[in-house]
Amino acid sequence: MTYTTHHEKRSKYHVSKNSNGAQANGRKQAVATVADRQPLTTSVDYASHPVNEIFGANVFNRQTMRALLPKTVYKAVVRCLDHGEQLDPTMADTVANAMKDWAIARGATHFTHWFVPLHGYTAEKHDSFLVSNVDDGAVLEFSGKNLVQGEPDASSFPSGGIRSTFEARGYTGWDPSSPAFLMDSANGRTLCIPSVFCSFSGHALDVKTPLLRSLEAISKSTVRLLHAIGNKDVKRVNCTVGPEQEYFLIDEAFYHARPDIISAGRALFGARPPKGQEMEDHYWGSIRERVLAFMMDAEHELYRLGVPVKTRHNEVAPAQFEVAPVFESSNLATDHNMLLMEVFRKTAQKHGFRCLFHEKPFSGVNGSGKHNNWSLADDQGNNLLEPGDDTQENLQFLVVLSAVIRAVDKYAKLLRASIATAGNDHRLGANEAPPAIMSIYLGDALTKVVDNIISGKAGDKKVGATVKSGVSMLPDILKDDSDRNRTSPFAFTGNKFEFRAVGSSQSVAMPNTVLNTMVADSMDYLADEIEKAVKNGGDLKTAISSVLVKTLSDHKRILFNGDNYSEQWHEEASRRGLANLKNLPEALPVLVEAEAKELFSRYDVFQEDELVSRYHILLENYCKTINVESLLTSNIATTMILPAAIEYQTRLATAIVQTKSAVSGINLAHQENMLKDVSDRIARLRTAIEVLDMLRHEQRGEDHLDDEHTAEARFYQQRVIPAMNEVRTVADELELMVDDSLWPLPKFREMLYIY
Ligand code: ADP
Ligand code: MG
Repeated sequence: MTYTTHHEKRSKYHVSKNSNGAQANGRKQAVATVADRQPLTTSVDYASHPVNEIFGANVFNRQTMRALLPKTVYKAVVRCLDHGEQLDPTMADTVANAMKDWAIARGATHFTHWFVPLHGYTAEKHDSFLVSNVDDGAVLEFSGKNLVQGEPDASSFPSGGIRSTFEARGYTGWDPSSPAFLMDSANGRTLCIPSVFCSFSGHALDVKTPLLRSLEAISKSTVRLLHAIGNKDVKRVNCTVGPEQEYFLIDEAFYHARPDIISAGRALFGARPPKGQEMEDHYWGSIRERVLAFMMDAEHELYRLGVPVKTRHNEVAPAQFEVAPVFESSNLATDHNMLLMEVFRKTAQKHGFRCLFHEKPFSGVNGSGKHNNWSLADDQGNNLLEPGDDTQENLQFLVVLSAVIRAVDKYAKLLRASIATAGNDHRLGANEAPPAIMSIYLGDALTKVVDNIISGKAGDKKVGATVKSGVSMLPDILKDDSDRNRTSPFAFTGNKFEFRAVGSSQSVAMPNTVLNTMVADSMDYLADEIEKAVKNGGDLKTAISSVLVKTLSDHKRILFNGDNYSEQWHEEASRRGLANLKNLPEALPVLVEAEAKELFSRYDVFQEDELVSRYHILLENYCKTINVESLLTSNIATTMILPAAIEYQTRLATAIVQTKSAVSGINLAHQENMLKDVSDRIARLRTAIEVLDMLRHEQRGEDHLDDEHTAEARFYQQRVIPAMNEVRTVADELELMVDDSLWPLPKFREMLYIY
């Protein structure tokens, strides 16, 4: 196979554009361009530089610090990382200096505090190390102060009313628990320092700060519970997360011909492709050369950034893929997932692709999620959700498991709210992702254990059962409930929970913040109950088992092993009193109810105003998203689809008139019906656009007062979205009628199959 470089490809692209001239249909050009593409080769050479050699090469990690810092400073950094101790400012100077020398030796010219404000995307403002240009040359500096704190004029980030513009400056603060790294670009490198972003009054203006607070909370409460049940050795508990990431790739030639995907991240038009995902031939299919070239290039960059990417495969929908890392501690996993999305976006462009992280880029085929695998580990690295080998370990496992079950039941609505976005509304409950009803899948074996506990039949039996593999050469496989339930929003998968309802584009910080806080509350509840019983003279074992019986009985309604997509489950869930909050405007208000305010402030995760501000930002973001989509819908329908339909209408009319004049008395009933069909759709499309425009106008007239955000969001959900859907329905019908050579937008059958 001959491999061409990206630049050669680009020039080819321009040639075909010019040779077709202004008349050419952009869509046809795109198809021709894409058909011509070849995989892009890079200089990646694993034979000379294997993964273990390059892994973390661009990270200022512990190994680097151990090598570069004086022993006392290194030890202080380790105490800071492992025990949350403050780092002495003079030591920060030493760390900063070593970091600067390390970065400059590797070609960095700038540094930036790298953080995620409340809009959910990473933010960076680069500063050069250059401080002055004195006679004897430029001086490069980077002090402890530069490292520890930045003060960007960050007035344009959303704050939800916490920080008025006259006190606009927030500050970014170094998060030592997530190591600094070097970000490569075409013409240089930048030192990125993972940071929090807060207002001067101490309010969190980012997604990381509350996550870090929730990690403190869950550690403290879990340690307390473990001590209460007799495991006194544990001092800290760490939360582990492995986010599996789904995404689509489409060729950039198609992308450029789709204004909806450019501006909204998803196709607002497009008839179902004749072949969708029904053949199930894409899932785990052999990966196309060009895609694999992209994946390998992105992985190479991620290895150097110390992101432990592990799994790659084709997903269910055509042109859909998944990447999964090895799990890490929650904070690091969250940063690494943001970094992964960034590297994927950039690398995709290098390969002539666009990487789409939207939850539902193409209707009619599956959307994308992010499976948030979650567990807890003690300071010895023991997974607290691993069913143990002996009775004592099993008891601890059951206590932790019960805490999670109680939390998900008691705070199901908060968990639902943590994943509410405009994009995720398309996925949840659309029979491709879990419904908006939160429930837990435990699998048959564990459900039996839980049932036995509730009915008092619990013996000391081991929880994990082995299955005979039936092949003598193979050992028995530990049954890890491989009868995985793909329809469950929150599934136990052997030694961790998999929160499967998270959207593909969102940071996992918020879902994990909520999860950690509500589980912390459960840990404390169980600890309270056990301590109370023991104080009243009860025996510890008895106390624990009666708390387990009570907790599991109280919350067993959240357990469901069946098909979450089925209509029967929706009915059953409603009988059980489980909430089914189908969209963001329904799901979000729970964030500002008294129970949530109390919970989050009790654990110092969100103060009341921080919660309220998030609520408003999320609602506002929702409204803005739908507003942009509705403008695009109107715009594309008016300027691209209607003209194509009218052109086709004209051709049909002309053909009819000319044929009649050529052959008198000829029967043209079929042609006339075709003309009628098209004319009818044109009229309906025009009407639908008018309705949509009118609604938007109606909306814009209103004040955006705080307490009206909810009403506004409901308006978008209940009125604007259906109006957009109507425009799309008619336009998609036209797509199936109008002469293919006139259709301006790349079709799904092209975007999803030609790459
Ligand atoms: P699958 O869900 O497809 O069976 P795996 O079992 O390999 O795949 O795990 C999926 C993800 O779960 C991976 O990112 C993996 O690292 C992560 N994971 C495994 N164990 C844990 C754990 N204890 N805590 C958090 N994530 C975990
Ligand atoms: Mg999985």
